[in-house]
Amino acid sequence: MRPSAVKGTYDILPDDQPRWRALLRTTARVLGRAGVDEITTPVFEHREVFDKSVGESADLVVQKEMYTFEDRGGRWLTLRPEFTAGVLRAFIEHGMHTWPTPVKLWSAGPAFRAENVQRGRFRQFHQVNCELVGSASALLDAEAIALLVDTFTALGLPGVHVKVGSVGDPEDRERYNAYLREALVPQQQALSEASRERLRLNPLRILDSKDAGDQALLAPLARPLDMLAHAAREHFDAVTDTLSAWGVPFELDASIVRGLDYYRRTAFEVHHAGIGAQSALGGGGRYDGLVANLGGPDVPGIGWAFGIERVLDALEGEGVALPARERALAYLVALDQEAVAEVAQLARSLRAEHRVEHGYVARNPGKGLRDADRSGARVAVLRGSREREAGAVVVKDLRTGEQLVVALDDLAEHLRVVASEAPTADGIPTTGGGVAR
Ligand code: AMP
Repeated sequence: MRPSAVKGTYDILPDDQPRWRALLRTTARVLGRAGVDEITTPVFEHREVFDKSVGESADLVVQKEMYTFEDRGGRWLTLRPEFTAGVLRAFIEHGMHTWPTPVKLWSAGPAFRAENVQRGRFRQFHQVNCELVGSASALLDAEAIALLVDTFTALGLPGVHVKVGSVGDPEDRERYNAYLREALVPQQQALSEASRERLRLNPLRILDSKDAGDQALLAPLARPLDMLAHAAREHFDAVTDTLSAWGVPFELDASIVRGLDYYRRTAFEVHHAGIGAQSALGGGGRYDGLVANLGGPDVPGIGWAFGIERVLDALEGEGVALPARERALAYLVALDQEAVAEVAQLARSLRAEHRVEHGYVARNPGKGLRDADRSGARVAVLRGSREREAGAVVVKDLRTGEQLVVALDDLAEHLRVVASEAPTADGIPTTGGGVAR
């Protein structure tokens, strides 16, 4: 990935694409086996979808981060800052509450936030998102967390830390917010500006502050998990008991909070130490009440998202073998003008089986072989007047230097043998490697 022209965006270059695709393939496999189907929703939604989902006391930070604009028809639209609201909008619109429950949906694509740009924090980035809708059972919470962890495991990523906590039910949250207000209002001059704002709107989110002064003020205070009422506590214990029974590694995090207001009960994050200050690979939580808020039936649900860029960053840092760009099996060189059309036609037929490239102008053998080498191809196939007379081509193995005259009729079979023999130029077999498997 290379920074693009607009700040906070980047281009995903050809060399990046295979690992990107492999990550999505692995994700689709892990989630698919758990009955999670893919859904694609639009990149923009009516702004109300996000306004309703973030809630009245939504952090101003969240509001300010949204790219909202008026289209030519005077409609207000927002580029999705996250997937949940749009996926649930689709859930409601297509009557998915009548489907067998739970309804399990995953998506992948770009999301947009007007953030301060830094490592791991972009303005257009990409997420894999997963929603499990229609059950309030603690089993669903455990399944959601396990699926996020299973995806990272299947990608071969070591060193992930799973943190699980609970923000409780709305009453727990209110009680905790009141407690924080009581404790912090008398000392609010000592809080950072952002946390003073949060004290007014949504005190819980002060726990998220990275400011050392804020954290010092919070240190002696109780955490949301310490103040849960019976029902939320019981639910939380059932989730953690299930995760333990399944052997999913996690740590309790008493002060976990999520950026958006709609979370209830279970909240979780997965971190990786190797990707800088923005160490969260992904996170999620339960959002009972959100579907009703968006105008649908009152069905509970839970979801998560992870950032594709951060996960690829972590995989690279851990030295996990990632698939490289496919190179041509053969590069066809035209040694005279007549051969230019011949190699183009030959390439077309060989492409039924392999990646095959060719030159578009006549070359002398030296330059032609250099072109073939630069393409990264395994073999160069040369065609000129001598080969034409013999009804053949010359095939040169670009790694061993070995050179053979091969009859045109035998070329397809010859290339089949070459393809089955050795790994590609990058040392990764064409059939797999790293996260591709
Ligand atoms: P969130 O919806 O904020 O919980 O984000 C879920 C995941 O998306 C995070 O853990 C990150 O991996 C990724 N993510 C969120 N915001 C950004 C961003 N601005 N740039 C890159 N990745 C992000």
